[in-house]
Amino acid sequence: MYPDRVVSGMRPTGTMHLGHYHGALKNWIKMQTELPCLFFVADWHALTTHYDDPTVIERSTWDMVVDWLAAGIDPSQSTIFIQSRVPEHAELHLLLSMATPLGWLERVPTYKDQIENLANKDLATYGFLGYPLLQAADVLIYRASQVPVGEDQVPHIEMMREIARRFNHLYGKEKGFEEKAQEAVKKLGSKRAKLYNELRTEYQQDGKDEALEQAKAMLDDAQSLSMGDRERLFGYLEGSRKLILVEPQARLTEASRLPGLDGRKMSKSYGNAIALREDKDSVSKKIKTMPTDPARVRRTDVGDPARCPVWQFHQVYSDQPTQEWVVKGCKSAGIGCIECKQPVIDAIIKEQEPMHERAQPYLDDPSLVRAIVADGNDAARKLALETMRDVREAMGLAYT
Ligand code: SF4
Repeated sequence: MYPDRVVSGMRPTGTMHLGHYHGALKNWIKMQTELPCLFFVADWHALTTHYDDPTVIERSTWDMVVDWLAAGIDPSQSTIFIQSRVPEHAELHLLLSMATPLGWLERVPTYKDQIENLANKDLATYGFLGYPLLQAADVLIYRASQVPVGEDQVPHIEMMREIARRFNHLYGKEKGFEEKAQEAVKKLGSKRAKLYNELRTEYQQDGKDEALEQAKAMLDDAQSLSMGDRERLFGYLEGSRKLILVEPQARLTEASRLPGLDGRKMSKSYGNAIALREDKDSVSKKIKTMPTDPARVRRTDVGDPARCPVWQFHQVYSDQPTQEWVVKGCKSAGIGCIECKQPVIDAIIKEQEPMHERAQPYLDDPSLVRAIVADGNDAARKLALETMRDVREAMGLAYT
């Protein structure tokens, strides 16, 4: 099997805020210690909705990378790159488009939702319809095994899996595959080769999934095989095709629990966001002026945290004793709203302190950011080209 790998991207369409941090970045930071990760600035995706005013994209791209680094993405652990600097994404997108049924794209649930949500934009474009396919290319080109997503993105991963399966089915038929696969079986050594053939028969004739899993595990351990032979033998187990593209798994992440200052989803366009690197005074001012339970008009009125957006911040930022203090104090009018907000202000400022510190060297010397991204672009492109070599060959475009 190909090595485990995580791929994820974000669209550079504005300043990053704490909603992004709690909804995605914290998760990325955790994952980078577990598996090789590739994180990319999805500038082409940003163009699908901002094609009429792309100026925000370039500006946001560099700010976004600084935000990632400030939040704790470590370039020595993760590959950070810009989607459009690896043009093979576009090539794979084009090639996949040849065999992707139109209905697959039209039925992606977020397609209709987005068109309705962004009614002020004309999204009846070819690019917008195709963005889930571009997403598929972004992931499949790295043969990623895992993609971190929220519940709403699961249908996109399902579609990526279908696209990879269809591609392998259509193009994984290598010339002389059967012979090459049998040669590869011999390279396992006589004992393993015998076991491989038995397990293959058990799976193909009797449908025994355990046999398939056992054979896959054996192949994982067979260090002497080349990557090509290994993939041939994986494909041979299940049929008579080589696996060129890998079906990724959705890695479900918790949906963002941090709402905006007004209780709606945090978004710069709603004017309810706290930027990732907002300065202290501004954080304090924004929280102090946050709306609270409308029933608490006077200090002596009792309130209910369930009706107050500040409480949702406490759920993210405060420990159990503080949360109990809020509930009791609010329901009995024992505390005032300004008093209630102070632990949230303190916690946000504390969370942001190391971010400001980490960002400073990059703000002082932007060439450091450019260098990190240049290295990331090179590393990503190398991996992308490995896949594209196989894809081109499979589709008769190798011209060797
Ligand atoms: S006391 Fe706290 S939870 Fe209650 S209404 Fe005021 S800010 Fe909201």
